[in-house]
Amino acid sequence: MVIASGGYGNVFFLSTNAMNSNGSAAFQCYRKGAYFANPCFTQIHPTCIPVHGDQQSKLTLMSESLRNDGRIWVPKKMEDVKAIRNGAKKASDIEEKDRDYYLERRYPAFGNLVPRDVASRAAKERCDAGFGVNETGPAVFLDFKTAIERLGVDVIRARYGNLFQMYEKITDVDPYKEPMMIYPAVHYTMGGIWVDYNLQTTIPGLYAIGEANFSDHGANRLGASALMQGLADGYFVLPYTIGDYLSKKIQAPKVATDTAAFDEETARLEIQCAEAAAKAQEIVSRNARTAHDQAVFKREYEALVASADAAKAKLEAVRQERSDRIARKEKLRRFLALIENAEPLAAFDAKMWQTAGIEAPFG
Ligand SMILES: Cc1cc2nc3c(=O)[nH]c(=O)nc-3n(C[C@H](O)[C@H](O)[C@H](O)COP(=O)(O)OP(=O)(O)OC[C@H]3O[C@@H](n4cnc5c(N)ncnc54)[C@H](O)[C@@H]3O)c2cc1C
Repeated sequence: MVIASGGYGNVFFLSTNAMNSNGSAAFQCYRKGAYFANPCFTQIHPTCIPVHGDQQSKLTLMSESLRNDGRIWVPKKMEDVKAIRNGAKKASDIEEKDRDYYLERRYPAFGNLVPRDVASRAAKERCDAGFGVNETGPAVFLDFKTAIERLGVDVIRARYGNLFQMYEKITDVDPYKEPMMIYPAVHYTMGGIWVDYNLQTTIPGLYAIGEANFSDHGANRLGASALMQGLADGYFVLPYTIGDYLSKKIQAPKVATDTAAFDEETARLEIQCAEAAAKAQEIVSRNARTAHDQAVFKREYEALVASADAAKAKLEAVRQERSDRIARKEKLRRFLALIENAEPLAAFDAKMWQTAGIEAPFG
């Protein structure tokens, strides 16, 4: 079995990840005994659109590439910060001498191209110090003014036009005229299911590839390396290593399906399906327009509830059967232990005749 279920960024409240990157599969592997490595290794990406409401389920990433030409800054003066926050000033109103290009100031050799963790920490440091520029604080500017002056708007449009368009759609601000606002967000998880060099977990036959495993990146990955890892794992490593495992399985006996665990899982799934279907029907029936529709929905709903009840009863029976099986096994085990530990019959016999004071009849 191969786990390729991505990272676990959504264990945090908001992240740039798809909603299914929630660690559910990795956690099930862990519960079955697979090791999990470095769960704290989470990459915080510096260029995300800041949180803009309390109804959001995820955050939008503005590409890393924007830092090639964009310059990151916050105002130097607190009065300008306040004016921007309350809408009295726009970013473009702030003069060059009053802007703090803090990455260029702190890291002159790398400037705006410092690694993700450094850029993220520096943005947080400025915002924690009170210089964040959106209404609620946490945001810094990513500004293309200098790049547009240097290269012209057409070059910038050719390089980043799609990203600028996306930003404008989400924020209603034109980044050709006003700088973007960005803030760091949870983006990638370097930790994951532990694997060896063959990408096998600590459970024989269970493999993990891509962001789901912990290999390759260490505590902080570089841009683009996630897709490289995905390709390497899927094309170059796994096809060669999994065969090694499977080659020893060629004579494996047929997998038994008449076990208590199999029955229990089947019954559990049946209940889950029936309950989900019943819930769906219930929702639909609330919207049914005619009396006939309602009657049909009611009938179907009742049938589904009955089937959920039947499945529940089946699960109970399976559980009972399983505990009986365990009890029978335990009895047998104790009986075998008794026999094993019992004195050999001949010695017992001899002791008996001796106790009775009679010579044993058969030598
Ligand atoms: C916005 C964004 C931009 C990125 N940009 C880049 C980039 O430019 N360069 C780069 O290298 N990397 C980038 N990354 C990272 C990269 O995209 C991911 O690391 C990579 O896609 C992971 O691939 P994967 O196949 O391991 O997992 P995923 O692509 O995450 O696929 C996992 C799949 O498993 C499914 N799944 C999860 N749990 C379960 C479950 N319990 N049961 C069944 N299915 C399940 C999910 O629905 C999903 O379809 C970016 C990530 C994001 C979020």
